[in-house]
Amino acid sequence: MRYCFLRFPEGKLKAATLSYDDGIRADIRLSETLNRYGMKGTFNINSGSLDGKDPNRLRIEEIKEHLLDHGHEIAIHGERHLAPGIVTPSVGIADALNCRTDLENIFGRIIRGMAYPDTGITKMHGGNSAEAIKAYLRDLGIAYARTLAGDNNTFMLPTDWLAWMPTAHHNNPKLMEWVEQFVGINEDNIRWSGKYPRLFYLWGHSYEFDNNQNWNVIERFCELIGGKADTWYATNIEICDYVNAYHSLIKSADGNRIYNPTLKEIWLCVDHQIYSVRSGETLVLP
Ligand SMILES: [Zn+2]
Repeated sequence: MRYCFLRFPEGKLKAATLSYDDGIRADIRLSETLNRYGMKGTFNINSGSLDGKDPNRLRIEEIKEHLLDHGHEIAIHGERHLAPGIVTPSVGIADALNCRTDLENIFGRIIRGMAYPDTGITKMHGGNSAEAIKAYLRDLGIAYARTLAGDNNTFMLPTDWLAWMPTAHHNNPKLMEWVEQFVGINEDNIRWSGKYPRLFYLWGHSYEFDNNQNWNVIERFCELIGGKADTWYATNIEICDYVNAYHSLIKSADGNRIYNPTLKEIWLCVDHQIYSVRSGETLVLP
């Protein structure tokens, strides 16, 4: 009996991602910062604000040029930014579905990610429940949805993709302490059941850097986390899709034969050893 753990592409132990909301002009500077450090993020857009009326919001062409063309993801954030825990289910469904169809048609791609708008599923009203909201989002084809208010330094992958808890908001006073802990973790200083993969997931609004004049926070974050050989820099959906592919691996009862039915090459760590199993192949552990 041995432990088998996910490793990110190329056998990497760690991944880092970001999630920034509302499609505001300062996203351009944030994207440029991430690009400089080879990092990737997800930008959560309100489709109802793409009419060009608000000069603070990114225009469609700018989202293409500054976000999508650099490999960042765009995800839904409600057509009208409504908290699904507060509005009636039919309004919450329309807000998510309209945002999804609008963004897919405008940008010509499939969009399956979400960040809950406003208070999301942290506050409930009118008989709503988080379980009922997650059920309709699943039916609307949403693969993951970022929630909030549970910052922690476990660096664990989510167990519930429709309540994906980030590691921290960038204003968390413990941010740099947690970043240092994260950077300090390596294959040699974690053992046995602790060899699970680690994820640092930062979230916020880029306009907060303007308002608080603290762009140095994100610069420092990227400087410390970026450019590491043991870290995969990916968007939210890339991480979600990769982890779900890992979960699709088919194993023999003793765990020694591992078949990969997916289209991705999947990496894993068994007894301190890194392996990969290619699409359609079966790995037989020694
Ligand atoms: Zn928002």
